[in-house]
Amino acid sequence: MRRLENILRDKTRIVVKVGTNLLTDKLTGLNPDRINSIAGGVSHLQSLGYQVALVSSGAIGAGVAARRLKERPKSMREKQATAAIGQPILMEAYQSAFRGHSRIVGQILLTKDDFVNRGRYLNARNTLSVLLDDNVVPIINENDTVAVEEIKLGDNDNLSALVANMIGADLLIILSDIDGFYSDDPSRNRGAELIPVVETITPRIERQAKKSGGELGTGGMVTKIQAAKRCTSAGIAMIIANGGNPRVLQEVVSGEFRGTLFLPAAHRLNVRKKWIGFVSHPKGSVRIDEGAKTALTRHRKSLLPSGVLEVIGVFKAKDTISVLDVTGNEIARGVSGFSSGELARIGGRRTGDVETIIGRRTHGEVIHKDNLVLLHE
Ligand code: ADP
Repeated sequence: MRRLENILRDKTRIVVKVGTNLLTDKLTGLNPDRINSIAGGVSHLQSLGYQVALVSSGAIGAGVAARRLKERPKSMREKQATAAIGQPILMEAYQSAFRGHSRIVGQILLTKDDFVNRGRYLNARNTLSVLLDDNVVPIINENDTVAVEEIKLGDNDNLSALVANMIGADLLIILSDIDGFYSDDPSRNRGAELIPVVETITPRIERQAKKSGGELGTGGMVTKIQAAKRCTSAGIAMIIANGGNPRVLQEVVSGEFRGTLFLPAAHRLNVRKKWIGFVSHPKGSVRIDEGAKTALTRHRKSLLPSGVLEVIGVFKAKDTISVLDVTGNEIARGVSGFSSGELARIGGRRTGDVETIIGRRTHGEVIHKDNLVLLHE
């Protein structure tokens, strides 16, 4: 899937959402094999350089089994109590699975208020950023024990889309017990067909999305399409794939997977560029020569190593950096393709020499034009 490659190229943050049906069984509780394969997949994404947040359902399902209830509770009080019991069971399972990959996890419980109230929103975002920058896996769930019906988000599909927006993710991967989005609910209609790519969410797509056929699941495809709208309109791609496949995350990032890809709306770059230019904090800067300045500002080209005169500060590849002109004025910001150490070695050199100098494959640009925002326009 060529278009997925473009979405994943140079991207840093991914949210993975795991559904209840996938994780829990009414009688036996949490499914350790699933938790292990998710931990393996998430660790794989991290080892490729992505920062990954996990939104996981399953607290009530785990609580149902622990309390030996015959069915999922219906009243709010009982649901909250069951979630209070199940949440630590869920976290313990993740913690031990991720420990097997030498990763640590952090628990974040959110309510609707955390998205509505700006102060709380920024706090939550900061905490998540610290965890993500440190390659810790935040495991996020709705705080069921304090959220009463009126203030509930109600489902983790919408929660995961809000989290993807909050952390500036480029992709939300929703893992369910089904291969993707079908033309109708396959549990009721055998003729339903998998739709591999959804370009725009039309009224027809919305009609095709039905509630969950499963017993423990909640929103079915209805809430997943709501999540897709929240993501794609903000420039974030979304995938629905089957978490029953233990290698699903590895396959998604390889670009060869079975599932449904919801493409981000056309103004994706604008949103991303807005973020690069005005939300992210530059970690360092590069001073460039007159020729490079003309290429950037007049011809809207990418910044190449040959134009770099000086590297200031310490930063990693994929950090946002400032671009200064010869006199030190900040003219642009963008996402660096190289670390400060690498740039110091390739500044002033020809693009063709870069891979030999730093010893790894690269796209060659210091800042690709898609990741560059001119500040004085
Ligand atoms: P999760 O717990 O993973 O969120 P849900 O049970 O809430 O899972 O949602 C997945 C279910 O949605 C599927 O198992 C299927 O029964 C149902 N469904 C309804 N409409 C569709 C559709 N158009 N395509 C695929 N699945 C659908």
